[in-house]
Amino acid sequence: MDFFISDVSEQQVRQEKEKAREMRRSRWWSERVGRGICHYCGRKFPPAELTMDHVVPIVRGGKSTKGNLVPACKECNNRKKYLLPVEWEEYLNTMGGERE
Ligand SMILES: [Zn+2]
Repeated sequence: MDFFISDVSEQQVRQEKEKAREMRRSRWWSERVGRGICHYCGRKFPPAELTMDHVVPIVRGGKSTKGNLVPACKECNNRKKYLLPVEWEEYLNTMGGERE
């Protein structure tokens, strides 16, 4: 149910992680990382250096859909993990990365 968006069960988390693994094997994803652009900072990287990131994390109700899965460089990925949401927003504003 959408109104319990912060209340994600372990089973849902497992399901979405499994879906993400499938997406990672898809042609869509290899084309996505093949472009080599980090979604957040907009810089170019070799495909091997880009990781799959959920824009809205699974634990906050994010799904493993094309709209929510983006390539992220390691630096952005780490920042997203360790920054507070508000600090992350500030980081994005200063980077002015590619938005879709
Ligand atoms: Zn980046």
